[in-house]
Amino acid sequence: MKAFCEECREYMDYQIDEIEREKEIKGKRINFKEKIAHCSECRNEIFVSDLRDQNLAAMDRAFRAEEGLITVPEIVDLLEKYDIGKRPMSLLLGWGETTLTRFVNGDIPSKTYSDQLKRMNESPESFLELLVTNNDKVTETAFKKSFDATNMLIGKVETYFAETKIDSACNYIISRSIEITPLALQKLLYFAQAFHKVFVGNFMFSEDCEAWVHGPVYRDIYFKYKDHGYNPIDDNQKQFECFDLSDSEKEVIDAIINCFGCYSGKILENMTHATTPWKETRVGLTDEEASNRIIRKDIIEKYFNQVYDKFKMLAIADIKDYSEDLFEKIRH
Ligand SMILES: [Zn+2]
Repeated sequence: MKAFCEECREYMDYQIDEIEREKEIKGKRINFKEKIAHCSECRNEIFVSDLRDQNLAAMDRAFRAEEGLITVPEIVDLLEKYDIGKRPMSLLLGWGETTLTRFVNGDIPSKTYSDQLKRMNESPESFLELLVTNNDKVTETAFKKSFDATNMLIGKVETYFAETKIDSACNYIISRSIEITPLALQKLLYFAQAFHKVFVGNFMFSEDCEAWVHGPVYRDIYFKYKDHGYNPIDDNQKQFECFDLSDSEKEVIDAIINCFGCYSGKILENMTHATTPWKETRVGLTDEEASNRIIRKDIIEKYFNQVYDKFKMLAIADIKDYSEDLFEKIRH
């Protein structure tokens, strides 16, 4: 290793010596070992930029150790293990969006900021709580990635997204509706399931609905929201603006909400009574006769394909023609 010696006026071999240094940083006296290069020939001190960087890092480490502050590698580790970016992490903590980036680049955090990071670093449970409570501050993708990584870390087998597709569909509909009763929810599920098959090619969920007196009903969903009776489902889930749904699934549900969401549960019930799958499944039953007959998927598919043809649907928004027609029908 050679460096330029001002004394010898040429590149010379050098030796590295360590000396104890005391330095004042932010009013604190900090001790650390400084590395100094000396010319092998004349013993003059030589400037080596690598050593300057190492000394700055040593000083930084000593200061942080003295103050009990989090180090840059610890911050980097934290971001990696929770699979979260610098910007989203900053936002979760309620900081400016570039604050954490500055810390990662070497700015020394205040004790308060540092303690927050340290707590997050030491406790995945605390981080998870922060993530879930502030999920509205980050994108859905960022939330999802980090949520799963953190749960994995904690060793939880089930993740937030272990809920079934139909649960996700319910949560999504509820979060997108101003007010929705369990009765109306059931009907929107029925139409969403059917039109997803028509427009996308597959049914959105595997569950079958049954031909109950009040229209098609998904049994598990009925029991899930039963306690609400005829009242709107109050939206406690709204804080979870995160759903395990694909774009096409959301698109179909959005269209269903647009086209059918304006009708009351009772009107929607009558609308589904006017659809072939429900009628066909209830053949032989009186209006008030209870039934748990399954409305078969092939019957749903056949009928809604006919609807698709009849209304010459080109885009999902064309479902409107059908919903308006159904509404006209039940008024007469
Ligand atoms: Zn020299």
